[in-house]
Amino acid sequence: MELRPHHGMCFQFYEGKGYSEDFTDHMGRIIRQLEKEPETTVKLTVATDVVCANCPNNEEGSCTTLEKVTGYDEEVLKACNLVEGEEISFAEFAQLVRSEIIEKGLRSSICGDCSWDYICRRKKNCESNCNVPSGT
Ligand code: SF4
Repeated sequence: MELRPHHGMCFQFYEGKGYSEDFTDHMGRIIRQLEKEPETTVKLTVATDVVCANCPNNEEGSCTTLEKVTGYDEEVLKACNLVEGEEISFAEFAQLVRSEIIEKGLRSSICGDCSWDYICRRKKNCESNCNVPSGT
């Protein structure tokens, strides 16, 4: 499964809100699938991914906020010491996002200008709200 690196953060705080009903239904299904099968291999991709597939901001395969989301992706890769194209289990990736970004308080410095930031800021950390497994 191809996954934009910054979606590893979105998944941890997701609560059913999004750009359209179709988008949120689809994103919820992906999260439930990964919760059930955390060993799924994800290929970290700085481009439209499985989540973008049903997004109204995906215009012919390119995000309308490309510069912003590419910046988020690159920051997540750097913070987790990963590289674009790397393939790891979703459980391992989720754990790295948690330990290297969220627990270190770096989330807002990466995506604090996102329109959904208020959701993640409210939760502060994902210890009790997380949608994904806490360990590998
Ligand atoms: S806003 Fe852009 S990066 Fe986010 S899901 Fe939509 S197309 Fe993908």
